[in-house]
Amino acid sequence: MLEPSTQENLIRDFVRQVAKKYGRDYWLAKAREGAFTEELWGELAAGGYLGMMIPEEYGGGGLGLTEMAVLQEEMGHQGIPLLLLVVSNVMDALLIARYGSEEMKERYLPRLARGETRFCFALTEPTAGSNSFRTATQARVDGDSYVLNGQKMFITGVDQSDYLLVVVRTTPFEEVEDKRQGLSLLIVDRRAEGVSLQPLDMGVLHPETQFAVFFDDVRVPRGELIGEEGKGSKYLFDALNPERISAAAVAVGLGRFVLEKAVAYAKERVVFDAPIGSHQGLQHPLAIAKTNLELAALMTRYAAGLFDGGDKVTAAAYANMAKFAAAEAATEACDLAIEVHGGSGFSTDVDLITVWPLIRMLRTVPVSREMILNYIGEHVLGLPRSY
Ligand SMILES: Cc1cc2nc3c(=O)[nH]c(=O)nc-3n(C[C@H](O)[C@H](O)[C@H](O)COP(=O)(O)OP(=O)(O)OC[C@H]3O[C@@H](n4cnc5c(N)ncnc54)[C@H](O)[C@@H]3O)c2cc1C
Repeated sequence: MLEPSTQENLIRDFVRQVAKKYGRDYWLAKAREGAFTEELWGELAAGGYLGMMIPEEYGGGGLGLTEMAVLQEEMGHQGIPLLLLVVSNVMDALLIARYGSEEMKERYLPRLARGETRFCFALTEPTAGSNSFRTATQARVDGDSYVLNGQKMFITGVDQSDYLLVVVRTTPFEEVEDKRQGLSLLIVDRRAEGVSLQPLDMGVLHPETQFAVFFDDVRVPRGELIGEEGKGSKYLFDALNPERISAAAVAVGLGRFVLEKAVAYAKERVVFDAPIGSHQGLQHPLAIAKTNLELAALMTRYAAGLFDGGDKVTAAAYANMAKFAAAEAATEACDLAIEVHGGSGFSTDVDLITVWPLIRMLRTVPVSREMILNYIGEHVLGLPRSY
């Protein structure tokens, strides 16, 4: 159904209220201080929004990605997107709820829903890059523990999380018949001995920042394994597809945020005795940007609905296409918004050049546009694998 439900309208209203209370200035101040948006997170927890996708029996709202995507989209639209919301309360919560042991669900899910604990997600490695099957972080069994060694890269919000959900190899790549075998998912306490963090100097202004994470003989109880050992790749896409849909929702929201600024300026700025928005050279690109953003919004909503409906294959196709469409639409909208502002577009007061790296990042993260196009070429169009 294309019409938003009453619940979805309530979610949007809630975000607008929260944005009025905290707003973009609060978010920017936290980003500049390098501090977590603790008050905003608490507000989301109190409203039941952090637990939205957690089953009711574990203290959550039992809703789906459709509703969560509305929250993420509107937070982007208000200029207050939170990356840990995607990682902690969508991806990691889903993996624990779907594949964790009963004891694990009882231990983590209610606390995630109440905002008392946070998780980050550690997949990327310096050498493996987009080829996640080449994950080299190794977990070997030693008595009732796994012993972890390796390195992860660009991990968001580790310093603000209590746990890392880490993708590891329990069987080395060289020893498996099929590259999909031998990956496992482990929950690691951020404060465990042998875990160390190195902050990365990134140019993306956001309250949650990136780290290189090192594991040096870290002992992890075997009870922290999610699902079966070696079957991690089977579970992983139940988190990676929602991540792509969430990234698309955030991109659509941020695209609306910048486009609205561009339209307001195009109406008010007069040069050559006419508002600049009266010139087709700007008006048509603005109209195209609006159309592309709304197309991406529809596709994102459709992808979220497919994921909630349980059709994994079609949901994966639309998750990839929605992420591509939304990231492209938002990047183009932001570039255009800067252009419309002329020289002012480069002033931090106008707050477009400040948001540009974040929007542009969504073309590459969580999965690059080239890898998305590879997926669509191979799995949607049925073309030969190109790499
Ligand atoms: C701000 C930020 C936050 C992040 N947060 C997290 C996080 O919380 N957790 C996490 O695990 N990771 C995180 N990442 C990592 C992110 O997911 C990766 O950077 C991204 O998936 C790309 O991988 P890579 O950097 O290794 O690029 P590479 O894999 O090295 O790719 C480099 C370039 O080569 C292209 N390329 C590679 N292979 C092919 C091919 N077969 N065909 C065509 N082109 C190809 C890519 O598209 C890309 O343009 C984050 C990154 C950033 C910048």
